[in-house]
Amino acid sequence: MARSTKPAIHASSIKTFDICELKWANRHLEGIRIPAGLAALTGTAVHGGAEVAMHSMVESGVLPDLEVVQDATRDKFKERLENEGVTYRPEDKVLGVAKARGKALDDAIKYAGVFYEDIAPEVQPVNAERKFRVVLEDQPWDLIGRWDWDEATSLTDLKTAKSRYNEKAAQGDTQLMAYAVGRWVNDGQLVEEVKFDVIVKTKKPYVQEVCASVGEEDVKLFLERLAIMIARIETGLFTPAAPGAWQCSEAMCEFYNTCPFGARKVVTSRPMSAGIINQGDDIDY
Ligand code: SF4
Repeated sequence: MARSTKPAIHASSIKTFDICELKWANRHLEGIRIPAGLAALTGTAVHGGAEVAMHSMVESGVLPDLEVVQDATRDKFKERLENEGVTYRPEDKVLGVAKARGKALDDAIKYAGVFYEDIAPEVQPVNAERKFRVVLEDQPWDLIGRWDWDEATSLTDLKTAKSRYNEKAAQGDTQLMAYAVGRWVNDGQLVEEVKFDVIVKTKKPYVQEVCASVGEEDVKLFLERLAIMIARIETGLFTPAAPGAWQCSEAMCEFYNTCPFGARKVVTSRPMSAGIINQGDDIDY
């Protein structure tokens, strides 16, 4: 069968679309890339270390030495910094950007240690960092992604977070469901459970497991949701985040200072369009 050349929605971008369609379009249609902050860099670096550990376990059944995982974490941190850069937040500038960067790298290595001690020994991975494309035959878009690792009957996404996840966060999560569908299409088997392994970045970091069962009804609902997302994309009209949404802030959105619905709403407000007519008391509901 010929390879699909359709555009594709990345599994990890669906949540962004749910929060702010405009942000999704800026990133994924307009291709506007503004480097993320140090916290994202730390998360990527931890994934770099985990990837090396999981590949080793899949290939040889053996967890490499901690130093190997920490070196891979350090390498990934430097690679992303060099390739994509970083946007420093005001608090980084207060600390000094070199110090903030050094602290972020130290943190990444510390969290890689938590992964190594508290997560990796419990895992028996079948696949690590497996890529997938789900060709949606009746849609103008496909679904692509790459999941962290899966085991015989479960699939896991590794996260680093400032605070604990809601205990129900995995239930119907669009990213996890996309991975479950990817694995189903690749291997012909639907996992029974999806899971976030969250490294909670408190003073003494710890691991929180957030699990959910998966059934065919969940897949059906996910695919219906995806079809609606595609229909929305095809209109070319993208709704900004809800006014007052906490994700619509300088810390959470890289477009905040240029977006007409972010900080710039203060300076771009203009007289009401002449096309809007006040019908006063005559309005007929
Ligand atoms: S600033 Fe707000 S509305 Fe604009 S893209 Fe970001 S989240 Fe969306």
